[in-house]
Amino acid sequence: MEMRTAVSFEDAAMTASCTYMGGGTDLMPLFKNGVRKDENIVLVGKLEELKGIREDGAVLSIGAAETLTDIAESETVKALFPALAEAAGKTASPQIRNIASLGGNVMQDRRCIYYNQSELWRSALDGCYKTGGGKCQQVPGSPDCRAICYSDTATALILYDAEAEYCENGELHTCPVSELVSRHSRANGLSFRERLHVLIIRFLLKKRPEGERSGFYKYSLRSSIDFPLINYAVRFGSAEAAPKIVAGAAGPEPVVLEDSALLLEDNSVSNEEIAVSCAAELKKKARIIKEDLISPARKREMFGLVLILLEELRGNDGK
Ligand SMILES: Cc1cc2nc3c(=O)[nH]c(=O)nc-3n(C[C@H](O)[C@H](O)[C@H](O)COP(=O)(O)OP(=O)(O)OC[C@H]3O[C@@H](n4cnc5c(N)ncnc54)[C@H](O)[C@@H]3O)c2cc1C
Repeated sequence: MEMRTAVSFEDAAMTASCTYMGGGTDLMPLFKNGVRKDENIVLVGKLEELKGIREDGAVLSIGAAETLTDIAESETVKALFPALAEAAGKTASPQIRNIASLGGNVMQDRRCIYYNQSELWRSALDGCYKTGGGKCQQVPGSPDCRAICYSDTATALILYDAEAEYCENGELHTCPVSELVSRHSRANGLSFRERLHVLIIRFLLKKRPEGERSGFYKYSLRSSIDFPLINYAVRFGSAEAAPKIVAGAAGPEPVVLEDSALLLEDNSVSNEEIAVSCAAELKKKARIIKEDLISPARKREMFGLVLILLEELRGNDGK
């Protein structure tokens, strides 16, 4: 394995088929366990082009190498995009947030109890899609890898229809984060050569309309460190933007709950009714698997926890 620090943005962007490393908090354990054996690692965490939280007219730009701590503590992010600040502040532990980057959080490997294991543990089984094999250990008949996307910030970025500016094959592109996460999710279920090799430069978030309220909720066993068992981001309250509800940790990528979000437009619908609708919609759209800390049945029961966030944002009377 070769690991080097990019000497410039151009150097990083023009290096073909490499693995970009931000803080390394996701990649290093994967290398240690031999689940990923990438050969050409380029460290991009110190590149100036990937740094900064800047307001530019109606848009907030957040560099992909900004740490989760910087994002969680930024007064600008807290004021303009509270769900993102909350998601960043609830990710992993303080030590990890001090090192982990936003780009790395969004592009972290999807996880699965059959994959995130030591080489010895995995040697008892055939390889899965991610390790070059031809099946999913979770759902043997599945045509694709079912590992789960646990990124807390992806849920919040998708809530705000954020865009990502990135470099791929030496060319600059911009696309919705939802699209990039989808591409990453599909490619991340495959072996190294087929994975996505893009360098995210920054995330672009259009300022929200007057009167909109938004927030993020996460449930994990130990809130001081664990991955989410479920997370939700919700926004509503402005006639200029349709309400939106996004759920994470319920499948290979965050799930948008369009039908339930419509209910947020009607003040006569109670928080309980919306939570019941979210749980039912997510049951249909989620792709859950066996996880370390929770059975699939118990996980489905947790889909209704969006009620806590709704009460926080709409008040107990649901208005
Ligand atoms: C104990 C523990 C608990 C955790 N709990 C949570 C949790 O609760 N919620 C959560 O969301 N996450 C959690 N994580 C994951 C953690 O947040 C991620 O490891 C971290 O955010 C990744 O950021 P990084 O900069 O260290 O990424 P890296 O490890 O450097 O990279 C991760 C991936 O992103 C890619 N990447 C990095 N930077 C870029 C870039 N600029 N452009 C394109 N691709 C890039 C890398 O190639 C790699 O594939 C946890 C991790 C640990 C170890």
